[in-house]
Amino acid sequence: MIYTKNDAEVELMRKAGKLLHEVLDELKTMIQPGVTTLEIDARAEKLIRDAGAIPSFKGYEGFPASICASVDSEVVHGFPNDKPLKEGQIVSIDCGCILNGWQSDSAFTSPVGKVSAECARLIRVTEECFWLGAAQAKAGNRLGDIGWAVQEHAEKHGYGVIRDFCGHGIGREMHEDPGVPNYGKPGRGARLTAGMTIAVEPMIALGTWKVYIAGNDWTAITRDGKPCSHYEHTLLITEGEPEILSYPGAKVGGHVNV
Ligand code: MG
Ligand code: MG
Repeated sequence: MIYTKNDAEVELMRKAGKLLHEVLDELKTMIQPGVTTLEIDARAEKLIRDAGAIPSFKGYEGFPASICASVDSEVVHGFPNDKPLKEGQIVSIDCGCILNGWQSDSAFTSPVGKVSAECARLIRVTEECFWLGAAQAKAGNRLGDIGWAVQEHAEKHGYGVIRDFCGHGIGREMHEDPGVPNYGKPGRGARLTAGMTIAVEPMIALGTWKVYIAGNDWTAITRDGKPCSHYEHTLLITEGEPEILSYPGAKVGGHVNV
């Protein structure tokens, strides 16, 4: 069941998105060699709670923290830990909040200090995949248009598109219908309509898209041990370009030529 949101509901999701954007912006400034992902997690939780919101990940199906922190070959759902981040790693931070009953969900991947050109390119292309997918996220298009845009750009660079996880509808619940895969065929899948709110979140691997789940039953890791990047925003489908609820003011055209 896909729930489209009315104007008042969208306004509430805008507020949740704005807060999450501010939180992630601050977390980005923390990322450097020596910091631990537990420290980043603590900061995220404090920022969210101080704003009167709830960290949506904490306790979600037993997840132990307010952020997912996935380092290098960890794809998603990494547990924050007390290991200091090291120069040359890449770390994906995924976070969600609930403000006045409405959800927002967003993720980014950051270099830790100076990283290889290969990793820097992976991060850049993953963000481009998001924006190209977002450019297809408009009323009248179909889910396959988003997935195809992401997949085509990633595979053009020789990267693997993670299949085991995908984007999703979002609203009162973090995960609503529909699933939003990062692969697909143009013109296929559910039709998008104005008022739908979805999270688009490419997970792009330097090598294989195949993953396994770690012993903690949560963390997905690439089977070839190569790094993976993740980028996500919550957005509102409109008749034109989407409104990026978790990145107020951002324009698709400002990020990719479409
Ligand atoms: Mg997320
Ligand atoms: Mg998500």
